[in-house]
Amino acid sequence: MSEKLYNVYSEYLKDKYGVKVYKLPIKLPLTCPNRDGNLSKGGCTFCGEEGGSFENLSSCTPIRDQLRTNMDYIRKKYKAEKFIAYFQNFSNTYMPFEDFKRHISDAIIEDIVEISISTRPDCISDKYLQFLSDIQYNKGINVTIELGLQTVNYHSLKKINRGHSLAEFIESAVGIKSHGLRLCTHVILNLPWDDMDDVMETAKVLSALKVDEVKMHSLYLMEGTTLAHQFKKGEFQLFSKDEYIQRVITFLEYLNPEIVIQRLIGRAPEEGSIFVNWNESWWKIRDDILGKMEQSNSFQGKRFNYLGGKALRNF
Ligand code: SF4
Repeated sequence: MSEKLYNVYSEYLKDKYGVKVYKLPIKLPLTCPNRDGNLSKGGCTFCGEEGGSFENLSSCTPIRDQLRTNMDYIRKKYKAEKFIAYFQNFSNTYMPFEDFKRHISDAIIEDIVEISISTRPDCISDKYLQFLSDIQYNKGINVTIELGLQTVNYHSLKKINRGHSLAEFIESAVGIKSHGLRLCTHVILNLPWDDMDDVMETAKVLSALKVDEVKMHSLYLMEGTTLAHQFKKGEFQLFSKDEYIQRVITFLEYLNPEIVIQRLIGRAPEEGSIFVNWNESWWKIRDDILGKMEQSNSFQGKRFNYLGGKALRNF
């Protein structure tokens, strides 16, 4: 069912590599310029202590040991044959260049076919991109950069204290693409200050920038974060599950159908959280999204008709 409705990541990987491919998280002892005082000390208002990951081994474990331990487990459990080394938590390019080179090189081991690096749009420069481009060319390992953006509404970016605006994302997206690397972008479609126009515009901007992959998350509230504090003070209200589902569907309809979707909804630890996915499992909400799409004859790219000189078509 889902193959017809949207461009599913697992299918894309199977087609590309010919076998089952699985992402293996790597955790490094890092921080982020939005938390260490470089840009701010508070971080994004939704960011918990783990900086975006919660299922990993200790950051003190050497990279190759993290990969091999996870590889053995995933190989047995899911019958995966090839793997993606995923530098997941915090900002994985926020470190001296020599350290970065060493970490990336350490991840190139047997059965790794791709390296995926999660970071911020303002933590990428040509030097880092050129190194990754050389790795891709010389070692035959594909490289994907995952950038957090969340929304194209720069007023909302300010409200969640991202520490960058839309411009930094555009600059790094253009740089990543011009170096021949793949770009995945993370979005949160139900930020309390965004409306449906913001959802549509986010899909349109990502399509126009030729983003390759998208990962969607629903907003969650972790105890101790600024966002949780604001919520408890009644400064905003959360959207309903039905509203989230409608936003995902609208986003997909405006998105280029060639963009690969890594996730329709995120996961977060229940421990330490005050709100996650309306207390439902992520896969149940994913099934609800797909059911609603089928019912309404919706599919990814249904409204992708706005690029390539649209107005000229009226002659
Ligand atoms: S950029 Fe990422 S790691 Fe840094 S504060 Fe925001 S969510 Fe947390």
